[in-house]
Amino acid sequence: MSECIFCGIVGGEIPSRKVLETDSCLAFLDIFPANRGHTLVIPKRHVLDIHEADADTYADVAATAKKVADILQSKLNSEGTTIFQMSREAGWQTVFHLHMHVIPRWSNDGLHKPWDIAPGNEAELDQVLQQITK
Ligand SMILES: [Zn+2]
Repeated sequence: MSECIFCGIVGGEIPSRKVLETDSCLAFLDIFPANRGHTLVIPKRHVLDIHEADADTYADVAATAKKVADILQSKLNSEGTTIFQMSREAGWQTVFHLHMHVIPRWSNDGLHKPWDIAPGNEAELDQVLQQITK
């Protein structure tokens, strides 16, 4: 049995509620749903996170997440969609196999933003842009 729970799901050792399967990706209901229909999309091949994934793998997962978002919107009549991709412990990743959360949203669903929206400091914005782009 794989030590990675998501590899265990891909291998069929751990049961899951499959929403969509492609040659390379699997989408299944999150058993800790933030909302009705909350679905996880993973590459079938084990890859740790966004930084370890090659661009094609990441694009494949994102394209599958888009298909899942459209399915959820059409079948559940959701009013919006939130997608989260968390990488590494500091990025709130808890299962260390790349995954995207596709969360159907309704205007009165009670979910809240994970950070407060506030304007940035202009000098800090300039400084970080310089650091990123130099
Ligand atoms: Zn894995």
